[in-house]
Amino acid sequence: MTTASDILYLDNNATTQVDPAVLEAMMPFLSQNYGNPSSGYRFGKLVNDALTKAREQVATVLGCEPGEVLFTSCGTESTNTAISSALQMDRDRQHIVTTRVEHSATLKTCEMLARKGQPVTWLGVDSNGRIDLQELERAVTDETAIVSIMWANNETGVMFPIEEAAAIVREKGAVFHTDAVQTIGKVPVNLRQTPMTFLSLSGHKLHAPKGVGALYVNRRTKFYPYLTGGGQEGGRRAGTENVASIVALGKACELASQHVAHESVEVRALRDEFENGILARVPGTQVNGDREHRLPNTASLAFPGVESEAMLLVLDQRGLCCSAGSACTTGQHEPSHVLRAMGFDDTRARSSLRFSFGRFNTRQDVARALEWVPAAVEKVRRVAVAA
Ligand code: PLP
Repeated sequence: MTTASDILYLDNNATTQVDPAVLEAMMPFLSQNYGNPSSGYRFGKLVNDALTKAREQVATVLGCEPGEVLFTSCGTESTNTAISSALQMDRDRQHIVTTRVEHSATLKTCEMLARKGQPVTWLGVDSNGRIDLQELERAVTDETAIVSIMWANNETGVMFPIEEAAAIVREKGAVFHTDAVQTIGKVPVNLRQTPMTFLSLSGHKLHAPKGVGALYVNRRTKFYPYLTGGGQEGGRRAGTENVASIVALGKACELASQHVAHESVEVRALRDEFENGILARVPGTQVNGDREHRLPNTASLAFPGVESEAMLLVLDQRGLCCSAGSACTTGQHEPSHVLRAMGFDDTRARSSLRFSFGRFNTRQDVARALEWVPAAVEKVRRVAVAA
């Protein structure tokens, strides 16, 4: 069996290792502090206090009020909640605007709504993976309910100009949601400077466990719950809270608030050393996406003459984890919809790999990857020529 000590983990956009400090913070809520936060006695109140603290910690990393944070089960639920709420706000506003490069949490939801007759406008991207703000401005009408645009792309790391996009949408009176699942914990954000209605985040991308997320809900907005039932989360999300994971998310956000500014510089240095090393060692390598406006941790690289699925197998034998397309679509062998939207043909899309760095990567990891990846490309190219 492969254990964590055997692997070289360069897939931090798929998920991250739970930080030991996060694990320590959540453990008491999986053992002795098992009360229900809705119970009125002190044993319940103690747990409810932990939720209050976690809400404050999430609010601090976002730069918003604690009352604007709603806990959910994942980034996908947050996004579904935002879209569903926006569509209930005004019967005369039913149009959705989104992009062709969203994560499936948004993409599939909007495709499903479109099949049911909801008008949806899909914004394209250029060959660097960037959106056109003028196209956005033209797309939003007085019938637009919601504009949902991701802050950073999970495959290429390209970051959209969310502050400008949010301002355009606000001017037009529509709801603005950003999927910030890949952004929070990787770069500093401050919602006090960015007027938006909703923002989605997910615990497992920032060193908390899987299965917990949050939705920022601007306090001035009308809100319609996605899950109805009990009065949890101030009546905004029914269901007994996943207390231990929420405490973990709070701790992970506290760590991010303290460390994201310098950590992003360190992670960028690792990513750049890796990327420049590969460009120097592997002839023909191309970087997918705008290198200037990009998450500091992500490198999406195309290796001409190489099938990414074959690369994944060879690298997996060494214990190196990275991904072809996004993890959520792995196994489907469809070329990445993001790279296709950037105008790349199937061959380039099928020869691309994503390497994503994080808090626990080291320079030794980069050194090993700079040995293994060029060797794997050479091996796969040799086999392709022989075949
Ligand atoms: N949005 C983006 C950009 C993602 O990368 C992911 C996960 O890969 C999600 C949404 C879904 O988050 P979750 O796994 O918490 O549902």
